[in-house]
Amino acid sequence: MHRFFVPPESISQGLVTFDAALAHQLRNVLRMRPGEQVTALDDSGWEYLVELTSLEPDRALGCVCGQNPSQGEPRLRLTLYQSMLKGDRFEWVLQKGTELGVSAFVPVLSRRSVVRDAGRMEKRRPRWERILREAAEQSRRGRLPQLAVPVSFDAACRESVRVHDLSLIPWEDAGTGSLLDALRALDAPPKSVALLIGPEGGFEREEVMLARRQEIGVVTLGPRILRAETAALASVAIVMSELGEMGAGR
Ligand code: SAM
Repeated sequence: MHRFFVPPESISQGLVTFDAALAHQLRNVLRMRPGEQVTALDDSGWEYLVELTSLEPDRALGCVCGQNPSQGEPRLRLTLYQSMLKGDRFEWVLQKGTELGVSAFVPVLSRRSVVRDAGRMEKRRPRWERILREAAEQSRRGRLPQLAVPVSFDAACRESVRVHDLSLIPWEDAGTGSLLDALRALDAPPKSVALLIGPEGGFEREEVMLARRQEIGVVTLGPRILRAETAALASVAIVMSELGEMGAGR
């Protein structure tokens, strides 16, 4: 069944109003007709079964005929502090991270980040938010992942430890101590985890030392050097799987 995130205010007293863009998609692209059903999500974690009642060129209407908590939303809050990447790699991380259950993405300007112009990045925000929305609809998420404004590496370190139960920085020169070891060393499963991933050129040693001083766990992802986007998604998958967000697990 087709799923669409809609602004919360468009669901009121059992009626749903789909704006012109969605009306066009429902009517002209999906060729849907009154009486057919879609799922509407208002980013609350709930999802609504909606029966379409009218499809006009500039808006569509439906009535709510059921609602359930969304099953696709993880309990774990995982924030990915991703150093900015060149080209469409950052967008690829947004899409795949959403599918894997990332709750928030924070673009990080680390010292070796090639992409550094925060203003130019902000211009890409509408495109990035569309990628997040489409990936969340496709993967049956119940909420839209948040996309923060770009921060410096130092700010990322300070914020991550302040708001997460566990913060980890994968570093190819970490030597020992795997990501899995760090997760299993805890007395109880964390409710929130932060992952800090470097840019194409990696973190500078000073950055890793700063993270360590902030009690961010430095971990290895094994002996192979992963591309940043690979490291991001491998780390997210390990955390989500180990903490029971991908079927079995704790
Ligand atoms: N500095 C490396 C080089 O020159 O080839 C590349 C860094 S890698 C492309 C980008 C990021 O992925 C790193 O900053 C780190 O966060 C993560 N990463 C890649 N391989 C890793 C590994 N084996 N263990 C831990 N982190 C890794």
